[in-house]
Formats: sequence, structure tokens, C-alpha cells
Amino acid sequence: MLELLVESSELIAQAVASHSDLAVTTGLNVAGTVLIDLASKEGFTGDVVFVDTRYHFPETISFYKDLKARYGEINFVTLSAKTPFEDGFLEDPTRCCEINKVEPLFAYFEEKAPSAILNGRTRDSAKTRTNLSPFEEGTPFKINPLYKWTTRGLIEFARENEIPIHPLVDEGYLSMGCWPCTRAVADGEDPRSGRFVGQGRVECGIWTRKTEGKN
Ligand code: SF4
Repeated sequence: MLELLVESSELIAQAVASHSDLAVTTGLNVAGTVLIDLASKEGFTGDVVFVDTRYHFPETISFYKDLKARYGEINFVTLSAKTPFEDGFLEDPTRCCEINKVEPLFAYFEEKAPSAILNGRTRDSAKTRTNLSPFEEGTPFKINPLYKWTTRGLIEFARENEIPIHPLVDEGYLSMGCWPCTRAVADGEDPRSGRFVGQGRVECGIWTRKTEGKN
């Protein structure tokens, strides 16, 4: 774990030093809160961007408020769709994600144009991420400092270091999403298998959407 921590901290420190307009994206998973904590320790005071889809668990919204209070030096930015797809998960979940989640984030990328973003994806967090690298070309450039960690390893690390953990993690929600599309997973089960239940997908579109560059 120490080796992982050293590498992640170095990647984050390098990102903070090299990109004055660096932003962090988070869905408030344990990876996201570990990332925020490590970034804060490296002096990050920029934007942490969270998309409020309007379908988050009440615990997620309450946890978000707690995080904002704990990391007061960071600028938390809450995004949401200007014209939401109301109850779109019933009709067309992929489009619901696109309108309520992906588009608000990409509108932020367009408006603020951060030269790089930090995010908390790990190789074990989805079958689409098993080859995740620390850096990904594209607009914006993506830095994935936690790429080698496992979700369960991050939970252990967060517990040992008193880093905030989403309250539903204890109930088995190892990958956090909206209440209509997320369920708890059993011990040993793929953390991502609780997402987009019955929809035949594991990604909301944020990380698979084509942008300039290789992405
Ligand atoms: S996860 Fe479900 S409710 Fe949330 S934006 Fe996607 S389809 Fe809609």
C-alpha cells in the first residue's frame, strides 16, 4: 500500500505543480474522496466538480455537504442539466445519463477548459478499465493517479487514515451512482456490478465519450 501511496502522491503533486487550472471530477466514491484528500495534502485548491443528476441518494447529497465543510480550501463546483431529462431512467437510461450527467460535465470542460483533470478511476473499477494508464490524451488531458489501487484497498486506506467514506459503502454500495440504477454488491462481487443494473452497460458515458485527441 505504501508503494501505491507514494506513486499516487507523486502523480498528484506533479499535476498540481504543472497545471494551475487543474480540476478534479468525482462521483463521491471512495476513490474520489481519497483523491480529494491526497490532492488537498499536495496543496490543491482548485475546482472539484460534482454532477448533481437529481437522482442521487439523499446520503450522497448529505455526504457532499460534509466534504465541502471538511475541505473548505477547495472550490466545490456543482453542475446539473439546464434542461433535465425528467425520470429519463424509465424511458432511456443511456440518454438520461447523457443529458443529466455527461453533458453538464462537458459543458463545464468547454467553458472552463482545464488543461488537465484528476480523477479517481482504478483498473478494478470496471471491466472497461483494466488497462487504465496513469495518463490519457484528450481534451481535457486525464491524470489517473489511483489507477493501480483496488476499490477495497482504497476503503481500507481511507478507514486507516480517517478519510471520509460515503456512508452507503458500509451497506455494500462500492460504486456510487443514482438511486434508480445502483444496488449494493455482495462480498467479493465486482464493485461495478451494482451499477446500471439490468441496462447491459458499465459506463455512464463520461469516460467513453470521444473528445479531441486519442481519448
Ligand atoms: S445513472 Fe440512472 S438516473 Fe442517473 S443519470 Fe444515469 S440513467 Fe439517469
